[in-house]
Amino acid sequence: MRILLVEDDADDAAFLRACLAQAGGRTVDLTRIDTIAAATEALAQGQFDVVLLDLHLPDATGSECVERIQQAQPEVPIVVLSGQGDEDYAIEILNRGVQDYLVKWEGGGRIILRSIRYAIERKRSEIKLNYLARYDSLTGIPNRQYLCDQLERAVTRAQRARKKVGLLFLDLDRFKSVNDTLGHQLGDRLLCAVVERLKASIRAGDLLARLGGDEFAVLLEDVAGPLEVEAVARALLACFTEPFDVGPRQLSVTASIGVTLYPVDTQDPLALLNNADIAMYQAKESGRNTFRFFTQSMQEEILRYHRVESDLKKAIADGQFRLVYQPQFGLHDRRVHAVEALIRWNHPERGLLWPDEFIAVAEESGYIVPIGLWTLEEVCRQLKEWERLRLPLPRVAVNVAAIHFHQPAFRRQVQQTLLRYGIDPSLIELELTERSLMEDTDAVQTCLRGLKETGVRLAIDDFGTGYSCLSYLRRFPIDVLKIDRSFVSDLDSNGDDQAICGTILSIAQQLGLDSVAEGIETEGQLEYLTRHGCRYGQGFLFSPPLEAHEVAELLRRHPPPVSLREADAQTA
Ligand code: C2E
Ligand code: MG
Ligand code: MG
Repeated sequence: MRILLVEDDADDAAFLRACLAQAGGRTVDLTRIDTIAAATEALAQGQFDVVLLDLHLPDATGSECVERIQQAQPEVPIVVLSGQGDEDYAIEILNRGVQDYLVKWEGGGRIILRSIRYAIERKRSEIKLNYLARYDSLTGIPNRQYLCDQLERAVTRAQRARKKVGLLFLDLDRFKSVNDTLGHQLGDRLLCAVVERLKASIRAGDLLARLGGDEFAVLLEDVAGPLEVEAVARALLACFTEPFDVGPRQLSVTASIGVTLYPVDTQDPLALLNNADIAMYQAKESGRNTFRFFTQSMQEEILRYHRVESDLKKAIADGQFRLVYQPQFGLHDRRVHAVEALIRWNHPERGLLWPDEFIAVAEESGYIVPIGLWTLEEVCRQLKEWERLRLPLPRVAVNVAAIHFHQPAFRRQVQQTLLRYGIDPSLIELELTERSLMEDTDAVQTCLRGLKETGVRLAIDDFGTGYSCLSYLRRFPIDVLKIDRSFVSDLDSNGDDQAICGTILSIAQQLGLDSVAEGIETEGQLEYLTRHGCRYGQGFLFSPPLEAHEVAELLRRHPPPVSLREADAQTA
């Protein structure tokens, strides 16, 4: 029996050692240590059957001693050594998960040994009870109680990390009839076989639990969105395509799954289980062997996403995209200085689609990269076309998606496209979102410098909505800030928005950057922005996005200044 004695008093230790040697002889292997710090280290290194623990140590006293031992080795039994007269305290400490106590200098070796053996036995049954309370006895996987504890913890962690938690509720279809016709024994074997397959299909960090009967749950942490959970649901359903070997026969069974997401479906962690349960019943109602999300809206979003994704594949090849151009006017000279290229999708069945219906899907699926290349190419082709018509050329702003901008090939693609069409790079302004700049600032800085060297202008789109950090702004070679239209839209009435616009404009001035206000709709907004030094404006007050031939007409009527560079220099 390996005993760890944690005792700083040499006399007390010597007495115990003598008693144990006399009663246990060679069967007792006693290691003495005199601080809690050294004890936790010893526990981390070696296996001990029991800890004899004094509660007055140089580096800890009282219940802290117990807690630190339990933290270091939760499964080791503890026998507390109390001084004479300290017994009340010793009994109180028994309630904190200590298995027994001994009063120092009392009783002989036999009594001490008996107490130690009793403590070891008691700890063993505690561990077993604890296990039974948290694990399912048939399949050995965690049970409902365990799942609920973990769910609460996962939700707390997700709140902090701004991540999502996914919960899937799985119920076997018509399991009752298996039990009724083939008997409980085969039913149990089927459940175990199902668990083996489910275990193999989930990822290492995911938690599979049995909630009771034929009900299971899978808890997913660190989830980005519904698609990831959907993939898990599909993998779980795929476990049921092959029949299960159950004793002498093979059994086929399917499952229905309900899916829910925190914090999308609910803010309440315990309601999650309930929501997943409800969704599971919806899956059963829609014919079994399938999964359903808890909310209708999420269900529809997933369907819509898949439809858009598969249509996008064809859209690029079939030339279903086109660009419209929204002019940007100089607030000082009311001339057209630039246009922003905005994409439109002529969907063969659904008609004209706006970016908010497909850009997010294109970004998540990666199709935004070929779309971005097409846009750049189309802008260059259009500039050449306007040039052929002998029109004074405006600068063209092109939106760039974050994932495209972060690709190493991006800079080369920009450079080569401009070269191929013979476009003056200063005519192109790339609009990057604030979010894509704030991710990995060192890499972003290199990327921006590279782009800058090609001669294009760089703008931050939707400025003010992201996580602007002024010190980064100063380091980035940016030319333009575009004030997000959400700040512009309430300028007439909202004092906060006035303050934000005013601040952005003064930042732009101090950093020597151009400013463009998006979404100007009223004279009042225009007046405020002009008064506060905004240089360019874009919005329905001036013009909606136009077709290329309408832009041509506009360029004839309000030509950009002869040289954009000259005009910039004049008003700077
Ligand atoms: P954005 O870059 O902020 O573009 C400005 C959006 O504001 C455009 O919406 C434009 O039509 C709209 N807008 C302009 N003036 C006004 C106004 O006075 N009032 C209001 N309420 N809205 C106005 P659109 O065309 O629907 O584009 C939406 C977003 O889609 C764009 O926001 C941009 O982020 C993205 N997008 C558009 N085209 C492309 C593209 O070719 N590539 C990429 N990656 N994203 C694009
Ligand atoms: Mg834009
Ligand atoms: Mg914008």
